[in-house]
Amino acid sequence: MNLTAKRDALTEERELCDHCLGRQFAQLGHGLENYERGAIARQNNELSQGDFDPGRVPESAEPGGTCDVCQGVFEELDHWTELVVSSMERYGANTFLLGIRPPSEAVEAEEQLWESYGAMDAETMKTELSRLIGKRIENRTNLTVEFKRPDLNPVLDMNHDRVELQVNSLLIYGQYNKHSREIPQTVWHCRKCRGDGCEQCDWTGKNYPTSVQEEIQPPFMRETEAIEAKFHGGGREDVDARCLGKREFVLELVEPLHRDLDLEELQEEVNQSDKVEVFGLRPADKDEIEEIKEKHADKTYRAYVETGEPPEDLELEKLRS
Ligand SMILES: [Zn+2]
Ligand SMILES: [Zn+2]
Repeated sequence: MNLTAKRDALTEERELCDHCLGRQFAQLGHGLENYERGAIARQNNELSQGDFDPGRVPESAEPGGTCDVCQGVFEELDHWTELVVSSMERYGANTFLLGIRPPSEAVEAEEQLWESYGAMDAETMKTELSRLIGKRIENRTNLTVEFKRPDLNPVLDMNHDRVELQVNSLLIYGQYNKHSREIPQTVWHCRKCRGDGCEQCDWTGKNYPTSVQEEIQPPFMRETEAIEAKFHGGGREDVDARCLGKREFVLELVEPLHRDLDLEELQEEVNQSDKVEVFGLRPADKDEIEEIKEKHADKTYRAYVETGEPPEDLELEKLRS
């Protein structure tokens, strides 16, 4: 089917907005929005590939329009934008990636178009909506689109006129030394009450009053207002040994309200502790959690041994091995 015949067949039996018409020619021409392609497609009797040029967009071209396919979703771009922006408002974030669920009827109608006329040159309604609404969000906020690891993942559900927001964790990489021989790496809940508090744990719910995690995380919780922190350590810690080799860790702050932290200042604050000292704090990637956990680090133990009598050389050899 040539372009003219495809255009005629598409517009003959149904009302199509310029977005939905133009989307069937989305791969043709550069620097055009689909509604501009749609307006171009309508303007001449004969349609050829060269017509899809930014210089040929009719002045009357504009977004929106009533339509049998999309149900007019492009008429409401400002509404959709507002819905997503307000869902993200309380979170201090830098990046986002928008997901879209277009109305089910619209998706079905679009699939029927493809069955009849082929999907060659076409783009999905979902892709177009994500791009247009994503751009509007970028213009209205300080957020930018990020594909790899966005801070926020809003999913706009057009069927139910609502947004499901996924807030990704803030991850901080660092290293620590443990100067105490009396604390574990992470919170160690009382075995008997599992954290609820009982007589055995003196109603603290814990076996130890503090831990490496609890020495590090409070200022991060305070600054980010996260709902929870998870401590991912590179290997486990002996409660009764010091650790002086700078063990790696990633602190995960779940659903933070704020992400712009002064890490130098926080490091200083943590290091007022006499039990734990941290080094080299910086933002981390999700992959680093697994990397740190899988890395096998050799350990060297240093121990002082008291003997009743001076040991023989042979006994010392045995001790060493
Ligand atoms: Zn439409
Ligand atoms: Zn207990």
